[in-house]
Amino acid sequence: MTSFLDRIYNFSPAIVQNLMVTGYGLKMYRREYGRKFREKLDEFEKTQWYSESELRDYQAERLRALLEHCYENIPYYRRVMDDLKLTPRDFKGLDDLQKIPILTREDVKKNFRQLIARNYKPSDLILGRTSGTTGSPLEFYWDRQACVVKNVVDWRQKGWGGIHFGDKMAFALGRVVVPTKQRKPPFWRINLAMRHLYLSSLHMSKDNLKAYLDKLAKFAPVALEGYPSTMHLLAHYLRGQKLKFLVKAVFTSSEALFPKQREMIEDAFECKVFDFYGMAERVIFATECSEHTGHHINMDYGITEFIKDDSQESSNGGFARIVATGLHNYAMPLIRYQTSDLSEPRKGKCPCGRNFPLMDDVTTRVEDLILTRDGRYISSQILSHPFKPIKNIIESQVIQEDIDRLHIKIVREKQYNDDDTKALLEGLAIRVGPEMKFDIEFVDSVPRTAAGKVKFVISKVTAGDQIKL
Ligand SMILES: [Zn+2]
Repeated sequence: MTSFLDRIYNFSPAIVQNLMVTGYGLKMYRREYGRKFREKLDEFEKTQWYSESELRDYQAERLRALLEHCYENIPYYRRVMDDLKLTPRDFKGLDDLQKIPILTREDVKKNFRQLIARNYKPSDLILGRTSGTTGSPLEFYWDRQACVVKNVVDWRQKGWGGIHFGDKMAFALGRVVVPTKQRKPPFWRINLAMRHLYLSSLHMSKDNLKAYLDKLAKFAPVALEGYPSTMHLLAHYLRGQKLKFLVKAVFTSSEALFPKQREMIEDAFECKVFDFYGMAERVIFATECSEHTGHHINMDYGITEFIKDDSQESSNGGFARIVATGLHNYAMPLIRYQTSDLSEPRKGKCPCGRNFPLMDDVTTRVEDLILTRDGRYISSQILSHPFKPIKNIIESQVIQEDIDRLHIKIVREKQYNDDDTKALLEGLAIRVGPEMKFDIEFVDSVPRTAAGKVKFVISKVTAGDQIKL
């Protein structure tokens, strides 16, 4: 919605907001879920079963077409190719992609105008932006096709979880659906056109969770989607009430999903969690199938490279930076875009039979790593381990204030005691080393980012740091 509509929306009563959400849903539905969506979904239902060589051929063909478009219509890439004395004829196979230099966030900001396709009318450009958990958000343009393909890979994964387009779903994501200062329910809006219930992630407090669950019971969704932290919060509430809420699947994304969260969500909703990883930049999409062996990198969506800072592709394991090329956005193509996410390719095939390669199911942003005085980077996943056995912690957050100090915020149960603190500090010290000091602060809730996410680890030491891997 435009900001003008946003303003009207914010001042309207809930019933009008529901109509507006439905109206917006209808517009979206027509624009992004019409014939093109159904055709592309049919195509992608087939490509997911391609052999490895068929997938590589598919990528090579799309890449050639994209690079031709870049040469003809994207001033930035015309300049890059001219400088390197390259033409589209120099790109025959996938390996030739390496001839194009890596594109950083700074490159996108600096060359914003030159990255927009000359053959697009301004009215055909759809503005997108990153959620901006750290620093300033990055803006870019999508075209309709990129939006359709994003919806296709999204619903293809829903299919992997047994959910189909048109099924009733409830979402608890970042969008502010209810004014943040509102204190009483309803903390949700309904999109009748798509049978979606949007729950506000920003109003979930101990006192409000019952209202959320009552609404969910009334709406009766087949599946849920949200941040791991929101789904975990609902699951934790259900466990406390000795209740279950049965759905077919829970989809999570946008934050690291910790094993303890997964376990509790699967228990409370009596279903499997299907985590996925995508970016607003639309260069990579990676999804869990029903085997849960890692995240399948959707090869028909983009080309993914794992690059260590010495520019060598990661072949012998370990963290490497995700660098990715989206194959479907012709309005503003991002080629070899350097993300701030780190992951690790997994070896071996998935028993599901798909040839999309697997990557580790936890991606870690550079700023989510803490740095120790002896130069070790420690992932949020590792830091989460000492919290795991402590039953009396509801939520927590670790903030690295400086190189030898961690500030830990804890939302505790009534039964929390000194033994819990002792166990936690011992567990942390084993992992971060004896030089680190800890402050513990008990809080009522852990702050959400503007997008409603919880960041388990925030490091003020590594933020903005160009990590050396
Ligand atoms: Zn699989």
